[in-house]
Amino acid sequence: MNLEQLSRREFLVGTGALAAAEPFPTTAIAADNRKSKKSAPRQISFKEAQADISLRQQYINQFVTKEFENDASKYFQDIIYDHDKSMVAKASVTDISKVLGDPAELEVTINHYLNDPQFRKLPEQEKDAMRIRLRASEEARDELKKYLELRNKKKLEVISKSAALVLHYSDRWGMQAKSTLYVFGDAFKDIVLRANVPKSLTQQEQITIPIKYPSTEELLRSRLQHEYTHAQDKFHGITINRELTISGSNVNDFDPAVLVFVEETRGYLRQIEFIREKFGTAHSAYAVSFKAFIDHMSEEESRSIISRFKGGKLTPHEERFVRYQIDQISAKTPQVLRFVQY
Ligand SMILES: [Zn+2]
Repeated sequence: MNLEQLSRREFLVGTGALAAAEPFPTTAIAADNRKSKKSAPRQISFKEAQADISLRQQYINQFVTKEFENDASKYFQDIIYDHDKSMVAKASVTDISKVLGDPAELEVTINHYLNDPQFRKLPEQEKDAMRIRLRASEEARDELKKYLELRNKKKLEVISKSAALVLHYSDRWGMQAKSTLYVFGDAFKDIVLRANVPKSLTQQEQITIPIKYPSTEELLRSRLQHEYTHAQDKFHGITINRELTISGSNVNDFDPAVLVFVEETRGYLRQIEFIREKFGTAHSAYAVSFKAFIDHMSEEESRSIISRFKGGKLTPHEERFVRYQIDQISAKTPQVLRFVQY
């Protein structure tokens, strides 16, 4: 999963404070690397970290550095074990009354709002008129408040479903900006998936049964491959070929839901391929990752992209990108498209 901050860049650039206002402290990985040169701390195993919450931050630092080597500090600004997800909620959920009470933050929110799919195709003149109205009226504050509340609700939904995620500032796409990686307590818990099976051999009627899958290091590795894909994509932008690119200069031309579709399908495909190559399809991590991909593709947002794609309602560039991703899914995990009936 991935989560974007409401960006403060315009305000920060305006006040010349961009460099001083980095939202997170210097990287934990660098600190850990320095330490490891001196004393070479003992490697913590997954089982040890699973049994002892106090070892998990250290375990994840070691693990990410081992998995991605120098690229870990290239793409991740910070790596945070956030047991109950309270830290990521604090970092990503907007303090609405604060934002609405601060003229500079308000301006950033208005720009975001006008970039929402319902308004972004309006002529500039109409946008300017809206901007003036949104700055001035009390009623417009309520409109912005509802918009921010909805955004917060969606963020919390994404957080609640995730075992790990990356946080990134939305206006730094393709600008070599690092992401912050969060790993949650859920990453160490067993997983219960639900499956529909016939009630008996002779009956049509189905019942839902829970199937328990163990939490494993292999599953965590594959999940981090997914998050790593997001961090890389944000850092470099996405370049499939000369025609298919997402970068800082064109990211605002995309409907945000299309961007999420492209990013998440790339994340899941990498996650699933990683398991298939390293551990084989019989590994429990394969079933768990596969189910997560199916669940994601079954969500309302993904369905709406597919139906807009089929209905010819995407822009030509969006359509080419979505087509490319669907082709990738058909080639690499065709079962996903068969499971999800669009
Ligand atoms: Zn993702």
